Amino acid sequence: MRLDQEKKPQGQYGIIGWPLGHSKSPLLHNWGLKEAGLTGLYVPWPTEPAKLPAFMAEVRARHIRGVSVTIPHKQAVMRHLDGLTDRAKAVGAVNTLFWRDGALLGDNTDVLGIVKALEGRGSGLKSALVLGAGGAARAACAALRELGVADVAVANRTAAKAEKLAADFGLRAVPWDERVRAWSLILNTTPLGMQGEHQDESPWPADGFAGVGLVFDFVYNPVRTRLLAEAQEAGVGCVSGLTMFLHQGLAQFELWTGKKLDARRAAQVLMADMALTGG
Ligand code: NAP
Repeated sequence: MRLDQEKKPQGQYGIIGWPLGHSKSPLLHNWGLKEAGLTGLYVPWPTEPAKLPAFMAEVRARHIRGVSVTIPHKQAVMRHLDGLTDRAKAVGAVNTLFWRDGALLGDNTDVLGIVKALEGRGSGLKSALVLGAGGAARAACAALRELGVADVAVANRTAAKAEKLAADFGLRAVPWDERVRAWSLILNTTPLGMQGEHQDESPWPADGFAGVGLVFDFVYNPVRTRLLAEAQEAGVGCVSGLTMFLHQGLAQFELWTGKKLDARRAAQVLMADMALTGG
């Protein structure tokens, strides 16, 4: 029994965050492990900030194969790693831990998730407005740079944070009260619209879509947020945060296992779960 396990060790994977609400990552990755014919399990590891150093020591001691990282550890985890990918460096935050040649590295697959979600829709984007200035907004700025969008601006409730983000990426900040203009693309990286206290809210007025070409809501639970519903009613193209979530997760899975999952089938798994859970 012991020998068998050593020959074919059970892969351990999971997500750390605090608090760790209801994440769809275990659903996606456990489906993926089964689909790829791999043994292993992906579990939630709720970890408060003070326990992060001990958690990271465990990751090394037990050679945990893959970790998804979410709020509030995305930056703090960086000092516990042996290196960062260019994307993680560009964002200044990590959402994925993986091993390469004995080194524990950090990547940011949110950037790829955003780039992939805009695939086929990103060409011809002349201007983009990022709403929010937190971790997801940083990933958005890095992705828009990769996509070559020339005119990118940031608007945030707290102006100083928008100005800091804009300065870090060489972009411009727009005052929150002056955000409603004609943009080729707007990206919502605030929690407005998310299930819970913000569900009925939107970061954009329903009568403000004139001249807006495309709306990308990072919120994915519910899939059809108030912002996307109102954009659709105004005849504006929509990109769901679920597509971003799917692709950042598939990129993590490939980093950990070397296997590519079928994106269409994985999307079906997520959509079926959303339908069941009321998303
Ligand atoms: P974060 O670092 O906490 O940043 C949140 C941002 O939203 C801040 O700029 C904050 O503004 C702003 N904000 C919060 N409440 C607001 C309100 N009532 N009105 C206006 N602005 C408000 O969070 P994050 O990590 O960037 O995540 C943000 C969102 O992106 C979450 O909903 C998360 O679920 C989503 N997300 C989705 C994916 C995906 O795969 N689809 C991946 C990552 C994140 P202040 O600076 O003024 O506080």
